[in-house]
Formats: sequence, structure tokens, C-alpha cells
Amino acid sequence: MEKILVVGAGFMGSGIAQVSAQSGYQVYLMDIQPAITDRALGNIRWSVEKLEAKGLLREPSQKVLARISREKDLSKASEVDWVIEAALEEEDLKRSIFQELDRVSRSETPLATNTSSIPITRLAENTKRPERVLGLHFFGPVPLMGLVEVVKGEKTSPKIFERGVTFVQSLGKTPVRVQRDIPGFVMNRIFSAAFREAADLVDQGIVSPEDVDVGMRLGYGWNAGPFEIADNAGLDTFVRVAQTMRALGAAHLAPSSNLMERMVVEGRLGRKAGKGFYRYSPEGKRLPWGNK
Ligand code: NAD
Repeated sequence: MEKILVVGAGFMGSGIAQVSAQSGYQVYLMDIQPAITDRALGNIRWSVEKLEAKGLLREPSQKVLARISREKDLSKASEVDWVIEAALEEEDLKRSIFQELDRVSRSETPLATNTSSIPITRLAENTKRPERVLGLHFFGPVPLMGLVEVVKGEKTSPKIFERGVTFVQSLGKTPVRVQRDIPGFVMNRIFSAAFREAADLVDQGIVSPEDVDVGMRLGYGWNAGPFEIADNAGLDTFVRVAQTMRALGAAHLAPSSNLMERMVVEGRLGRKAGKGFYRYSPEGKRLPWGNK
């Protein structure tokens, strides 16, 4: 059985761990905060049991759950066939994680990052195996979303890139090949162009987030509106992605207003905080911001 280490057990890491275990991999899940790993394991249990109850799991949930274990540090990297990093979107942090992973893991192990915006090439610089570093950009919530961008860094070898494609397919996901390492890759750049306009229109008081979301659903056939997507992803992550875009010469893809920065200061981080562009009931029901 192939083994995977997932670094970071937040929104994305826990989803990546879950789909990997559902696809038959042995998964080691690690977070710098052990309490977050515990919470992730609880969420995964809830999600897998729900799938089982709906008849959507190929085997008993216990078997899937038994394939995930918690780790306190990165030492398991020495035993695994894949490492997927899904820690906070901060370049210095990710660079130091990659440096440590490179030191600990076998030299042939591919090191993947789930970064939304930081160039793969820059994270690969901190390793002695840049040809084995690639982007695997999952979309959240990972158990529900079928897409993964496979991103080639400047030095990623064609063989590792194709292994990434095959790996993504083995998880039941559909890969999109991104052949060059540009800020935000492809899907986030296209989404960000729409989101920038939407956020600026809301900040100018021209339209409400709810009306934009309804409009994009009904007018353009989106499954979720831009502000629903932002709340699910976390506005703190969105702010970091916008900062990276600005720093890397793609400011035209970041909102021109500081609406999200102000919201983050007020604790409006999105669904995980119970408030963002919307409010959320304790059961997770989405309510318009103005509706108390
Ligand atoms: P999150 O805040 O939910 O989780 C990040 C986790 O990283 C936290 O639990 C934190 O404790 C942990 N962490 C911090 N330092 C660490 C370290 N040194 N070692 C191990 N863990 C550490 O964030 P998220 O939304 O899961 O995002 C994770 C990554 O995935 C980011 O790079 C983000 O840009 C990317 N991403 C996010 C989304 C999304 O929709 N949220 C989509 C695609 C990609």
C-alpha cells in the first residue's frame, strides 16, 4: 500500500487526507498544532460516515478511517511515497517546511505543495531535488470538488509531472495540467479576475454579496457564487493569496480595495469563524450578513 504524508491538517489538508484514504492510500496527517489534527480526524470521521450512510463508500468507513494516523512531526516523510504540503499560505513557512522535508525524506520522494499562489519554483529552491517538486492544487472542499491543477515548476521533470497527473487520477480527481509556473496558476487567476470586480462592487455599495452570488448562479450557471466560495475557503487565505499576487506582479488579479483585510481584522474569516460575507448558524446554515 502506498503511503502519503499530508502536512497541515486544516481545511485542505484534512480533505486531502480523507480522499487519499478513501482511495486506498495509507495516510499520515501532521499539523504543527496537535489539536487541529484531532479536530481534522473528527471531521473526517463525520464526513466518511455520512458518505457511508448515503451508500457512497466502497468499503466500511472503519477501514477507511484505519488508514489515517496522526503525526506530531515530519519524520514520517522518510517512509512515504508522496508528501503533500497544505500548511498556511506563507512563503517563509512553506520554504522552511520544504527544506526540512528534503532533509528527512528519501531523495526519490516527490514533494508536492497545495499552495494557491506561491510559485512552485521558489519552494523547490530550498531543496536538493527541484525536479521532484510540483504543485498539486486541490480545490475545497476536497471531498466534493473534482479538480486538481498539476503545476510544473521551472525544474519539475516531465516524469514527475506525469506521475502527479496519474496520482491525481488515482484519487478519482480530474487533473488540469499547468505547464508553466505563474502566480495563481490558471484557475485562481481566472476566478480572481471575477472576484476582484465583485469585491470592489460590494465595497462601493453597488451590490450586496448575496445578490452577486445569486446573479452568478442564475446568470452564469456557477454552482456557488464568488462570496460563497470565499467564505468556504477562508478570507485569511484569500488575503494571503491577494498579497502574493500583488507581490509577484499580478496586482490586476487582486481586489483594489482592502475590504477583505478589514473583515479579517474584525474576525470575519468566513464559514470557519461563523461569519464572513455571510453569517452562519451553529448548524452551519448560511444567512445574509444583515439578517440577525
Ligand atoms: P488552514 O488555515 O485551514 O490550514 C493550514 C494549517 O497549516 C493550519 O492548521 C496550521 O496549524 C497548519 N500549519 C501551520 N504551520 C505548520 C507547520 N509548520 N507544519 C504543519 N502544519 C502547519 O488553511 P487551508 O485553507 O487548509 O490552506 C492550506 C493551503 O492550501 C494553503 O497553501 C492555501 O493557499 C491552499 N489552498 C487553500 C484552498 C482553500 O479553499 N482554502 C484551496 C486551494 C489551496
